[in-house]
Amino acid sequence: MRSYILNHYSKVLILSAHPDDLEISCGGTVAKFVDEGTKVDNIILCSNVNHKKYVASSSKILGYNPIYLNHRDESPTSKVISEIEKKVDVESYDLLITHWIEDWHQDHRFCHELGNSLRRKQQLDVWYMNAYPYCQKYKSFEANLFVDITRYKYKKLDAISLYDNVPDEYFIGIDSMSRYRGSFVHVKHAEVFKVDTLLYS
Ligand SMILES: [Zn+2]
Repeated sequence: MRSYILNHYSKVLILSAHPDDLEISCGGTVAKFVDEGTKVDNIILCSNVNHKKYVASSSKILGYNPIYLNHRDESPTSKVISEIEKKVDVESYDLLITHWIEDWHQDHRFCHELGNSLRRKQQLDVWYMNAYPYCQKYKSFEANLFVDITRYKYKKLDAISLYDNVPDEYFIGIDSMSRYRGSFVHVKHAEVFKVDTLLYS
């Protein structure tokens, strides 16, 4: 079966807070995008952390292009936005994937705010990622887009296993979560997103 939605995009921008957020939340989807010819750039907001050192190897496994910033949630939004707009041509993307507004982590929520600013002048589809475990408690992440990652599960786990900062119980939880999400749509493993904007033009 063809993946019609993924084939719709030619260039995807991911705005993530930390090295490992892409791998944990949507590593299988990214590998699938890349396999189908879509270019994926990943802006990492807080690159001044120890586990940045794993990004070079992980991005090779999954096929994305990393772009590093050194900010946190206390940085002025306008300063970060102008830095992003100098580094990438936002108009060249047709999909933005970033963090959900109700994620626990303050850096993740800051990315959500930055995403709203980045899309202010143009058409851009927007999906929110399900960051394990920060979207699993208090409020439920109401997924409305499921991506079958069965063929890419091992690439995703290989990439995550590079990160020494990801504890074993998270690793097991991430694998179990994709199996759990997949069971709702009759595939072995799925990653989920919350679609904010999907433009049919
Ligand atoms: Zn994070």
